[in-house]
Amino acid sequence: MRRAYPIFLLFFLLPLASTEAGATSTVDSLQSRLQELYRSSQKAERLEVVMELGKALRIEKSYEESIQQYQQALELALYLEQAHAHREILMNLGEVYRLQENYVLAEETFQRLVQEETLCSQQQLAEANHRLSKVYRAQGNFDLAYDYQMRALEIRRDNQDQEGVARSQYQLGSLFFFQNNYALALEYYQKTLDNALALNDQHLLYMSYGALGSTYNKLERLDLSIEYNQLALELAEAQQNEVAIAYALHNMGADYYAVDSLALALQYFSQARLLKQQLQDQWGEIASLRMMGKVYVDQGQVELGLRCLQESLKMAEELALRPRVLEAYETLAKVYEQLDQGPEAILYLRKYIALKDSLVNETTVQKMGTIKQGYEVQRREQELVKKDYQIAQLQQKALIVGILVLLILLWLIYSRYQNTVQYSQELQSKNHRIHQQNEELAQANDLQKRSNALLRKNNEKIQLQNKKLENSNLELQRFAHIASHDLKEPLRTIGAYASLVSRRYQHTLDGEGKEFLHFITQGVNRMYHLLDDVLNYSRLETEVVQPDLEWVDLNELVVELQRNLQEQILQSNARIQSNPLPWVKANRNHLYQIFQNLLVNGLKYNTQLEPQINIGWERDGSFYRFEVRDNGIGIDPSYHHKIFEAFQRLHRTDEFEGTGIGLAICKKLVTQYGGDIWVESTVGQGSAFYFSFPIPPGSQTVATSPALESVEE
Ligand code: ADP
Repeated sequence: MRRAYPIFLLFFLLPLASTEAGATSTVDSLQSRLQELYRSSQKAERLEVVMELGKALRIEKSYEESIQQYQQALELALYLEQAHAHREILMNLGEVYRLQENYVLAEETFQRLVQEETLCSQQQLAEANHRLSKVYRAQGNFDLAYDYQMRALEIRRDNQDQEGVARSQYQLGSLFFFQNNYALALEYYQKTLDNALALNDQHLLYMSYGALGSTYNKLERLDLSIEYNQLALELAEAQQNEVAIAYALHNMGADYYAVDSLALALQYFSQARLLKQQLQDQWGEIASLRMMGKVYVDQGQVELGLRCLQESLKMAEELALRPRVLEAYETLAKVYEQLDQGPEAILYLRKYIALKDSLVNETTVQKMGTIKQGYEVQRREQELVKKDYQIAQLQQKALIVGILVLLILLWLIYSRYQNTVQYSQELQSKNHRIHQQNEELAQANDLQKRSNALLRKNNEKIQLQNKKLENSNLELQRFAHIASHDLKEPLRTIGAYASLVSRRYQHTLDGEGKEFLHFITQGVNRMYHLLDDVLNYSRLETEVVQPDLEWVDLNELVVELQRNLQEQILQSNARIQSNPLPWVKANRNHLYQIFQNLLVNGLKYNTQLEPQINIGWERDGSFYRFEVRDNGIGIDPSYHHKIFEAFQRLHRTDEFEGTGIGLAICKKLVTQYGGDIWVESTVGQGSAFYFSFPIPPGSQTVATSPALESVEE
């Protein structure tokens, strides 16, 4: 792109580098392509080709034809409503006008673009300003040129277009150069060089070297000037850029001229002029020609020198290149003065002064200064706006952060609130549950109260019934007692008369009568026993365990019992064996009855030749478990419970005598002490009767006398 914008004003500037031959062949092929397209209606493609053709023609320097193509392209773009292409074409058209040195139309074209500010891209806008500046500069309108270049620079800075910035800096340097303000020119060129080095842009580098060489030349720092110009020349040659070489050669000539190496200077200027002529660069050619004229005059070839100078003036005037005209006036004035041709010298001096006033004057410099200040103010304002924007952004960020923090806080408060609400809800539901439970409890209490009342009532009822039962028991016992007692009376009479009949009528009674009488006596005896047992049993109902229990030595009790049963034992040939027995606390008579019943049964229900009875015991928790074991007839297990009920017998009286009350009495007595009685037996293998009896507190498992000590206490 850079090469598409040739720079014409300065003598070290670089125009297009394309070869004309290449452009021509491109032009031909594009033109034939266009012919084809005219036949079809592909307008969009035609637009592209027309634009290409315009460009190729411009490179070929066929400016008029190029303009025609671009104008056609403009119409096509309008027809196709391609706004972007339209602006692109305007840019190219303006450039061709400028190259054609038709500055009026060039200015008008670029102004259209600049005024379409909002439609253009920033790059396009900067480029339009840049080119407009160059148009004004060529016309000698330096203040306007400066203004537009500053605009271009600002846009490029904002867009961080470093290359664009460098190009603007270069142009600004040139403007100061033309205003003979070399110090400022140097400053801008140096900046361009820095940027060119940073970008490693060879073309910009060449331009910077050339510009710096020229500036140092003007500042008469010829060593530096030659150094930079030499660098520029080398770079141009390395790039094989003829335009650049031409300008570098010119600059070298200027340096050698300054150091009075006239032959060398002439050589450089001549080479430069020739090259520029070939390149049709009249702007450049004028400068080289003028310098050649100066050298010729200095060398004494006055006529040749003046011819060169006049020609350069003529060319400049024809092309209306006012800066070049000014240079020519100045040189001619000096040369005529040098040649002592006063009137001519004054004539050119006047012309020079008149033109200079309109081109290079203090006002222009001042204006440029004001513009610069304006831009600086604008820049500062922009910076301020930028800062304001940054502050606003910061404030915005702070606001966002603040809002976020606030939101977080709100969220925290909300979640806290939610938790509290949840907690209170839970509490409420707990309270509710507790309330419910309380109600249930109250109900349960109520129920309890009612059931207690019911219980109490029932208890009362039971007590009442117990009382009644007790009364009826008492009644019954009394009845049993009275009955048995009263029944004994007639029994005794029957018994007494039966024995009287037996004794008195013994001889008169036959065998059968005697037998009947015997039955009566037996029945009476049996009736006696029964009544005794009933009496005993009914007595037990009323008896309670005596609170004044005594210590009973069971060993002594068993011995006494054996003594009382001695006859029965001897008769049955029985053997009674007893382990040493413990002492117990009880009513001695009760224990006597228990052991007596068990012992008597063991002897009675035994058909062995040598009945055997063993008395033993063992400790079972807080009870003694006593055992009376015999080797008798045994009991069927189905009767093991029944035998403890009153009047329950398993045998007939003629088999084994008895009333069926003994074991019932035992059970009653044992249960009165909190114990129990049971039997383990198999028919034909004997029986073992067990009964439990509480161990008196303080007793040891002894058979001797644990209780004696406590008796002595
Ligand atoms: P009885 O006056 O008939 O002996 P008990 O109440 O003492 O009354 O005994 C009830 C019944 O239990 C007895 O009739 C007898 O059939 C049976 N019985 C009691 N002791 C024994 C025993 N040691 N061996 C076999 N049977 C027994």
